[in-house]
Amino acid sequence: MFPPICLGCERLLRHDDALALCSRCHPLQARLPDSVAEANGIRALWSYDGPLSRAVVRLKFSGALALAGPLGRLLVADPGVLDGCDRVVSVPLHWRRRLVRGFDQSEELSRWAVRHARQTLRSRAPVLARRVLARSRATRPQTQLDAPARAANVEGAFFVRRPEQVRGRRVLLIDDVTTTGATAQACMHALREAGVASVTALALLRAL
Ligand SMILES: [Zn+2]
Repeated sequence: MFPPICLGCERLLRHDDALALCSRCHPLQARLPDSVAEANGIRALWSYDGPLSRAVVRLKFSGALALAGPLGRLLVADPGVLDGCDRVVSVPLHWRRRLVRGFDQSEELSRWAVRHARQTLRSRAPVLARRVLARSRATRPQTQLDAPARAANVEGAFFVRRPEQVRGRRVLLIDDVTTTGATAQACMHALREAGVASVTALALLRAL
């Protein structure tokens, strides 16, 4: 379904390599310490540095869509990461940015994550709820702002355009990179307003 390539150097993985990184790249990738894995209402898996951060940058800005499969698999590789959810929703790009990029990276990651989950969890895998959230206005990139400005930048920037897909559901919100969690918080607020039973958030990487 996807080439078993190293997310760091794109060489083919050998079967004794780690899940997504070859033996050369794996030691270069930091896992998040427990103290910061869960912070600001969003769980993150890896640190925004090393080979995985470069892979996400290549996916987003160079259109390296072949990396979306292995990155999506990495999202759901930890046991229990999908426990207690029956719908997956991704943090959306503004439609204009999506148009320019040609795809939405968090949606791609979510699509692959659900696809991988179906292989292991079968009927217990959550369903991808597509295009549920939308941005009501374009926001400045969060990376250009300090922490207080980030919350203000995204407050009220999201709305649920397909509430019937998530009402009464246990939702897992997926983002590629989180920093302060402000974007995820704004999305979770909109989902709660739309009547979800519960919502948790998961990001592949956290920038510290
Ligand atoms: Zn490698």
